[in-house]
Amino acid sequence: MPVLREGLLDYVEMVCKQISKRFVKPPDWWTAPTEEASPPSLRKPDLMCFEDKKTGDSRYCVRCQEEVDEEERLKEEEREKEKAEAEDKRSVKESARARMKRKAAEDKKKKAEKGKDDEQKAKKRRIKISVKK
Ligand SMILES: [Zn+2]
Repeated sequence: MPVLREGLLDYVEMVCKQISKRFVKPPDWWTAPTEEASPPSLRKPDLMCFEDKKTGDSRYCVRCQEEVDEEERLKEEEREKEKAEAEDKRSVKESARARMKRKAAEDKKKKAEKGKDDEQKAKKRRIKISVKK
């Protein structure tokens, strides 16, 4: 084991010597670069990027037009989503109202039927009473 260790240390020493042989002193004018700055957050220009000087018409270049179209598409999707959500909410409300109306109508019907039943029972009772007499 110690032999192996010696060999490895020799190898490292040789490598370090070779590296130091190739070392070149930097010129006087060289200074270390400034530290890396975070990328600036630029916002897109409001103006269109191409203006025809003769006619004064402005338009986007192909790349910007693609970006604008993509943005427009995303906005449209967002709007559609919101619309669908609002409609969903409204349909929930409407279905709840319809259910309430239906229930109310059923209750009314039941009450009416019950009233009829009671009337018939009362009639039968009256008949019975009259038979007894
Ligand atoms: Zn452009």
